[in-house]
Amino acid sequence: RGLPYRRRPTTELLRARSQVLGGLEVSYAEPVHLVGGRGVLLEGADGRHYLDAYNNVPVLGHSHPAVVDAVCSQLATLNTNSRYLQEAPVELAERLLSTLPARFDRVLLVNSGSEANDLAWRIARHATGATGGIVTSWAYHGVTEATFAFSPESWGDSPSPPHMRLVEPPPAAPAAVASAVESLAASGHGVAAMLVDGVFTSDGIRGPAHEWTAAAAAAVHTAGGLYVADEVQAGHGRTGDALWSFMAGEVPADLVTLGKPMGNGYPVAAVCGPAELVDPFIADTDYFSTFGGGTAACAAAVAVLRAIEEEHVVARVAATGARLLTALRGVASEEPQVGDVRGWGLAVGVDIVDPASGRPDPARTGRIVEGMRERGVLIGRTGQDRASLKIRPPLVFGDEHADQLIEALTSTLHSLR
Ligand code: PMP
Repeated sequence: RGLPYRRRPTTELLRARSQVLGGLEVSYAEPVHLVGGRGVLLEGADGRHYLDAYNNVPVLGHSHPAVVDAVCSQLATLNTNSRYLQEAPVELAERLLSTLPARFDRVLLVNSGSEANDLAWRIARHATGATGGIVTSWAYHGVTEATFAFSPESWGDSPSPPHMRLVEPPPAAPAAVASAVESLAASGHGVAAMLVDGVFTSDGIRGPAHEWTAAAAAAVHTAGGLYVADEVQAGHGRTGDALWSFMAGEVPADLVTLGKPMGNGYPVAAVCGPAELVDPFIADTDYFSTFGGGTAACAAAVAVLRAIEEEHVVARVAATGARLLTALRGVASEEPQVGDVRGWGLAVGVDIVDPASGRPDPARTGRIVEGMRERGVLIGRTGQDRASLKIRPPLVFGDEHADQLIEALTSTLHSLR
């Protein structure tokens, strides 16, 4: 209905894509050509339906009617920037702050997780006067130059930037954070901020590890640095125990960044923090973003927060996540190709190992992801050795979907024995 582009056959589209988008990665050896999405299902051009067990952005499911309605109505009514007086950004900020600890009283609205982290980093530098950063060893926090420095997953062969220190994620001890703080002091950088993804997604899915993060935050605080809870992956109910993962453990975060699921697919992101950190930054930098806090983006984000509450999404995540985790542990107990299984709500990591040596097996992991796709279930992989399955579905994933995933996984593992 009203789509402004033409449709072409899959092979032709794939060829055209590589011509104009170049080496941009396309998922799966046989890419899925998508034409629709509803709930937890994605529709292929071949008419086949795929179970989406990977997309963390459409938390409420693809094409959720409340979000579609909010965005379409807003686009058809008014869509402009946050320098004008309008209801949407104010209501969004009020709603967000009502879900956060009382010390948070400001919201800055931006357009992507990268931008939120970039801004948090600028605020941290402004507040502390320091220039050093700490992050986990295989983290990902964004695409901008500043957040690329916080994304060792993307570094390839380039060396660690001199102002950055890496620490091993849990289950390694958090003691490394204190050493990183000392090392930054010795180099003259000092510590401005540590950024932590609440579920350690690219580190292989390893959290929330509240004791670890609380100890890390304490070490950073002793040196005057800020602890930034990156809830881009872990937030909006993913972990099934809280809307924001760091709050389940009362981790003393100074700034919180939100993104990905915030608009269920419509771009919107945010930095939340206390006035004492945010206000001096705004005053000194005349901060403003054209699209950040735009009306339609705010309408999407308000609709998402409302639907999460009305549909009791967090409690449902806890129930489905528990069922999925139990089933996966059952598979692991019978299947020598499966090692450790970790899950917090619907953030689940499954280590794949060589059955003979017990060592991480990235090639086998890749074959499992492809085998699942052939069986109509979309998942991904993660971790420094690329040997952990990444299962991170929309949060409206139900018991029947968990069962379908387990069936496809069991069948795929059998085929690889
Ligand atoms: N932080 C985390 C933890 C992320 O996973 C990502 C995206 N994968 C980002 C930040 C960056 O978000 P975006 O892609 O919206 O810029």
